[in-house]
Amino acid sequence: MIQRDRLAVLMAQELDRFAGAHPRSLALYERAKGSLLSGVPMNWMTKWAGGFPVFVDDAEGARFTDVDGHTYVDLCLGDTGAMTGHSPKASAEAIEEQAHRGITFMLPTEDAIWVGEELRRRFGLPVWQFALTATDANRFTIRLARRLTGRPKILVFNWCYHGSVDETFITLDPDGSTRPRDGNLGPPVDPSVTTKVVEFNDVDALERALAPGDVACVLAEPALTNIGIVLPENGFHDALREITTRTGTLLVIDETHTICAGPGGYTRAFGLQPDFLTIGKPIASGVPAAAYGFTAEVARLLEPITSEKEADTGGIGGTLAANAFSLAAMRVTLDQVLTDEAFDRMIALAVRFAEGVQGVIAERDLPWHITRLGCRAEYLFQPVRPRSGAEAAARADPELDAFMHLWALNRGILLTPFHNMALMSPATTTEDVDLHTGVFSEAAGALIGS
Ligand code: PMP
Repeated sequence: MIQRDRLAVLMAQELDRFAGAHPRSLALYERAKGSLLSGVPMNWMTKWAGGFPVFVDDAEGARFTDVDGHTYVDLCLGDTGAMTGHSPKASAEAIEEQAHRGITFMLPTEDAIWVGEELRRRFGLPVWQFALTATDANRFTIRLARRLTGRPKILVFNWCYHGSVDETFITLDPDGSTRPRDGNLGPPVDPSVTTKVVEFNDVDALERALAPGDVACVLAEPALTNIGIVLPENGFHDALREITTRTGTLLVIDETHTICAGPGGYTRAFGLQPDFLTIGKPIASGVPAAAYGFTAEVARLLEPITSEKEADTGGIGGTLAANAFSLAAMRVTLDQVLTDEAFDRMIALAVRFAEGVQGVIAERDLPWHITRLGCRAEYLFQPVRPRSGAEAAARADPELDAFMHLWALNRGILLTPFHNMALMSPATTTEDVDLHTGVFSEAAGALIGS
């Protein structure tokens, strides 16, 4: 339906428009090449459509301004790290205050207890530990699960993403064989040695994979969010919990993105009962911080292991983990920013966003769809909602993704570079959402020539 030659012409126009409008970002990018690998401070930043990233000058709430003076509605929000909106006033004040009172001690502050109690209230898991990134929370949890069960492997779902965790960079091919994900840099071992992988929503495959009893834990997002959104089918989570329990496999739920489902994430919204829960990214308004929680039974078993003489070389921890600064930021974020009321507003905005996009798709009869989970929504350029990561990946349209990102960027809207994700923050407005709907509609019109 989308003619590729038309798309190529439009893309060329958008690239010109982008380069012409961003001379300062381009100059900084050229300068950056002198000291930064590929001209960026972190390699993912090469992924922005347009050929070079816009350099940020300033941000507040759901908007940021680049060094060329353009202001954008930010629907990427640091790929969830800034789901709070940028520098919420309460967070900025509490963070500044803590910055003047000491940043890291390797000693606890009272904030740690407040945050532990709040996480307990939100997610239902009683005992917590802290890390600096969701990646680390997942890595530490996997280690603990292996130690507790004495089992060597973990299981993940195909096309999952849980951070830069070695065990998770594995793909399932259609013939059932597994191999490292494309781009997996310098893996310590082939992940097939450490990891089993099955499709999301495939209960039979899960049953077969866990039956031998060699899997320490299943590490799962409650809905896949990193290959578009793949929602669990009815009964999937019940089956996942039942099979893991029956086979003595621990269940780790990664809520780093699915916190979008509500103040207690998908776990609270849908009554999940994991053994471990991990979360990072937005819980400290963008300050590096993450947490992992577990059941009382797991805590009882962990206590003697983690307080052993060699605890500091045991592979979990981190000198800066649970620092006073991160914990002050977590406390204010949970207390004053990502509140129940904020989620009510954010979710209502995402409903409006999804309805707007769906309206355009229906009106123009496009073979696309949109999926929403709480305050997160994502459209895929494929006609039906995928049931698994493999289905979503097989029907992906990276050309159209890049075009839509650049089209939106050129009209003052930032989408997430890895996919067509839009996230609502407490500072996002209905005008922001409607701006996107209009821009999306114009893009669709340009693409089909009407
Ligand atoms: N878990 C999930 C579900 C994620 O999407 C990500 C990052 N996209 C992570 C963990 C890792 O987060 P970080 O890169 O901040 O460690």
